[in-house]
Amino acid sequence: FDASQYAAELRSHWADNGGDASYALLTRAFVLANATSSRIKIVDTLVNFLRVLIEGDPSSILPAVWLATNSISPPYDELELGLGGSSISKALKKIYGLSSQGLKTLYDKHGDAGDVAFEAKKRQSFTLVKPKPLRIKGVYHSLMKIATSKGTGSQETKQRIVEKLLQDARGAEESRYIVRTLVQNLRIGAVKTTMLIALARAFLYSKPAGAGFEVRPLDQLARLKKDELAEIYSNAEEIVKASYARHPDYNDLVPCLLDIGPTDELLIRCGLTMHIPLRPMLGSITRDLSEMLTKLQGRDFSCEYKYDGQRAQVHCDEQGKVSIFSRHLELMTGKYPDLVSLVPQIRGEGISSFILEGEVVAVDRETGDLLPFQVLANRAKKNVELGDIKVNVCLFSFDLMYLNGEPLLDRSFRERRELLRSLFVEIPNLFTWVKSMDASSADSESILEFFKSATEVKCEGIMVKLLDNETNTTTNQPPTSLSTTDTEQPVHQSETPTTKPKEKAKEKSSRRKPLLSTYEPDKRLESWLKVKKDYSSSSETLDLIPVAGWHGQGRKAKWWSPILLAVRNPETGTLEAVTKCMSGFTDKFYASNKEKYAPGSANLISRPSYVDYHGEPDVWFEPQEVWEMAFADITLSPTYPAAIGLVSEDRGLSLRFPRFLGVREDKSIDEATTGDYLALLWRKQGERAAGGEGEGEEE
Ligand code: ATP
Repeated sequence: FDASQYAAELRSHWADNGGDASYALLTRAFVLANATSSRIKIVDTLVNFLRVLIEGDPSSILPAVWLATNSISPPYDELELGLGGSSISKALKKIYGLSSQGLKTLYDKHGDAGDVAFEAKKRQSFTLVKPKPLRIKGVYHSLMKIATSKGTGSQETKQRIVEKLLQDARGAEESRYIVRTLVQNLRIGAVKTTMLIALARAFLYSKPAGAGFEVRPLDQLARLKKDELAEIYSNAEEIVKASYARHPDYNDLVPCLLDIGPTDELLIRCGLTMHIPLRPMLGSITRDLSEMLTKLQGRDFSCEYKYDGQRAQVHCDEQGKVSIFSRHLELMTGKYPDLVSLVPQIRGEGISSFILEGEVVAVDRETGDLLPFQVLANRAKKNVELGDIKVNVCLFSFDLMYLNGEPLLDRSFRERRELLRSLFVEIPNLFTWVKSMDASSADSESILEFFKSATEVKCEGIMVKLLDNETNTTTNQPPTSLSTTDTEQPVHQSETPTTKPKEKAKEKSSRRKPLLSTYEPDKRLESWLKVKKDYSSSSETLDLIPVAGWHGQGRKAKWWSPILLAVRNPETGTLEAVTKCMSGFTDKFYASNKEKYAPGSANLISRPSYVDYHGEPDVWFEPQEVWEMAFADITLSPTYPAAIGLVSEDRGLSLRFPRFLGVREDKSIDEATTGDYLALLWRKQGERAAGGEGEGEEE
């Protein structure tokens, strides 16, 4: 890989394309990105590509960014391509002259629709009329037309656009990526973070003609020391990431970058905005209360019930207009008209506008008792009328991010919470605050009581949040030993004067890092910890994708058992097998699973190229579901490729005693657990175990 050669190649592109960037240019970037699993190389490829557009055709950057991030608009815009697999198959047959059998043979061989298009295009007989090259802007506009055509005749319109795109694709690679784009599975590593890093760096080097911001000449950057350059990169990346976390819409970010580059002003021009959801702050995992106390020792924190519902971000402007967004930034205003109707009552005197966050939980209207998540999941997913609501909910609010025109993100949690609780009006069983208890690590007895009371009312555990910003080092009082698993048998070893030097060094380094209690969108920090109810020895669960099955034995002969499950690799788009599971399923579930993945149904597919597993299951499932799985612990595995390369060069990770808990109806496969996360859990498990690394082998 030679970045400068690639940049020169890209530049020569303008000679043939008269300033309107061709789709071939983007395809070339996809091919290069796809050829490597190195994040650095993928970033380099994108930086080079973006720089050529910045200097030669800035108007193609925005459509290119959407296409490269496998989307056409932000999640809350509710625009969907809505193309079924049959529409793509029909177009492939028509444009590439394939018979139904020919198409099936290609699908059986390749699995991925894009790979099928690649092969079909390669085999296509010579066409006399060479189509005009596809343009980046043109492809994006075609997708927008597909997403926005509604009503009678819209299916035909969409079909015509799909066929035209396939017809105009010039080479086999263009066909591959057009089809992958249409099925919204690009399978390159240009996901959100990679793209944000690439944008930040590209605008450090290049600017459009006439833009007012400064770029560093290349020769000047080349003379910098490695760490000076790293600092310049990291500042720009932090600004771009922070802007996107507060205002996750490329339609606003890209024009701002073209105008002012990755400067501090970006956060003012493209920051927290009413009716645009910010990306939520996330909690870090802890094994149990002991670990939580160790992490937060010497600090004041708040323990809160961790309710089992759906996260909601509520925006209300000065005119009283309300928007409600989900954890994944989808618009839910129509789903919760009952919450919308509460807003005028909860808005206390002196509140003009606000953004608050809380957990929506199904409750018994009379008693206020919390009901399980499954009850909430039964509620209609889309727009409902107030009168048709069957499942009552209560919003348990836990944070306030914006008030009366002012972002509160930089305020301490104590201040934000005080504003929330003093200004808003509680309505019993409809709107209230999360149940909480302020504490410090000395209060271990009462924290354990609080934790128990949370689990008794069917909460998932507790969230523990730092109350104040820390400016300097704090005293390290040894925490009282405590375990959620067994209160009689403390698992934590309190510090004694004979602490080993290694532990001392570890502690010193953790003392050096002051923790902040500010609201940090899109970050998973140690200032928000979650402590969940224990399952076996692991308190975490994983959200895995069922990808294959075997014929069951004996009593289970009629069903698929065991079932192979996978984690996601967001870098490569691959699904990496992590474990086989045959525990936790009821007979009823087995039967419905067999019905869903019945022989001959479209839900069974031939071996997909994008699932990484070397064994031979009897059938492959079309990946479409997310299952919540419990497990005893994570092990290094010579058989399963999950997270390979992250903790060991030649071994992946697997689970011991995996157990099915339920289907995550609220999650799509894009939200399933990633290999990175699994590796993080493995490391945490290693830190906990005596001697650290290298938990035993998979059983
Ligand atoms: P992630 O941490 O990625 O959100 P997840 O969606 O599986 O993972 P958990 O890790 O189980 O969720 O926990 C975080 C979620 O807990 C929040 O997103 C929120 O929906 C919910 N929650 C319930 N009670 C609280 C609370 N008091 N404070 C913050 N979050 C809460």
